[in-house]
Amino acid sequence: MAKITRAQLAQRKRIDFYKKIIIYGFLVMTILPIFTSLFLFYRIGQLEKKLDYALSAEGKDYLTLLSSRDALLDNPNAKSGVFVDSVKSVLGNAEVDTNSATSTEKENAETVVDGENVPESQEGSTDVTQPDATVTNSNGKRVYLTFDDGPSIYTGQILDVLKANNIKATFFVIGREEEFYDYYKRIVDEGHTIGMHSYTHVYQDFYASKESFAEELTKLNDLIYNVTGTKSTIFRFPGGSSNSVSSLAVEEYIDYLNENDIDYYDWNSLSGDAVTNGLSPEQLVNNIMNDVSQNEDSIVLMHDLQTTHTTVESLQLLIDTLKTEGYEILPIDENTPLIQHVSADSVE
Ligand SMILES: [Zn+2]
Repeated sequence: MAKITRAQLAQRKRIDFYKKIIIYGFLVMTILPIFTSLFLFYRIGQLEKKLDYALSAEGKDYLTLLSSRDALLDNPNAKSGVFVDSVKSVLGNAEVDTNSATSTEKENAETVVDGENVPESQEGSTDVTQPDATVTNSNGKRVYLTFDDGPSIYTGQILDVLKANNIKATFFVIGREEEFYDYYKRIVDEGHTIGMHSYTHVYQDFYASKESFAEELTKLNDLIYNVTGTKSTIFRFPGGSSNSVSSLAVEEYIDYLNENDIDYYDWNSLSGDAVTNGLSPEQLVNNIMNDVSQNEDSIVLMHDLQTTHTTVESLQLLIDTLKTEGYEILPIDENTPLIQHVSADSVE
């Protein structure tokens, strides 16, 4: 055995040291990219699922409402109750058209004079116009509850709550399978207004052309008529009339609606009920109360969605709060101001 000198020992230590650096360096350089790749593949999968959902019929107004949620979370005004403004800012330059609302109100001046007068068409209806025992302090303001995207597995529960409170609302429905037909029928039979909201609710199909738009509405109204015996004369744009998802300019579709005497209604109050990270019933009701306090007439956007149960959970609290604060809750009818993000009058 050769004797190891001190110099040789030091050299061997140095060699061991470099060996370690090379081995660890090699491990880090190979393992890190592998884990990063795995993580990124996982994220791609997650995002693809989200995208499929957003673009699917089940996704509904996911994209629009995601923006609304961001508006709620980002905009400090939302906390002080100016939620409509923050949503308007998300929806682009379009404004909630209060002018057209006012002019419609004037046109209907004979029937709707002001909050205290009873609209002619509802004089006979004790259900709606006679204040419930719980309404003690009418504030002269009107609220129209609207439920989009149904029927769903929760439609029955929504109808039950409305019935128990003797409230009429408005449902903007889509085309569903036969097992949901009874809900279309209940909506009409129980005195609610039924509106159209596209057959598929798949943005790229529905908004593909004026023809696809017309086809879906015809198909949907045929379904509504066959099941309920009533035709619908009102419509809500999926994503609203100021949506940024339609292929053509929205005026093309408005043109079709005007030609066919179909009135469309957007909203000026938003609960945020279709947001994925669900808000609590109290938060939903707060959102709505902040909005409705700023308008004489408020159309409230809610959802009758398979994926959101919070709408049902918050409905009783909402009705109680609205009644306590003296709001009149009505279904949309011909006297309802045309609350539109893009006004129908903007199209010749
Ligand atoms: Zn919708």
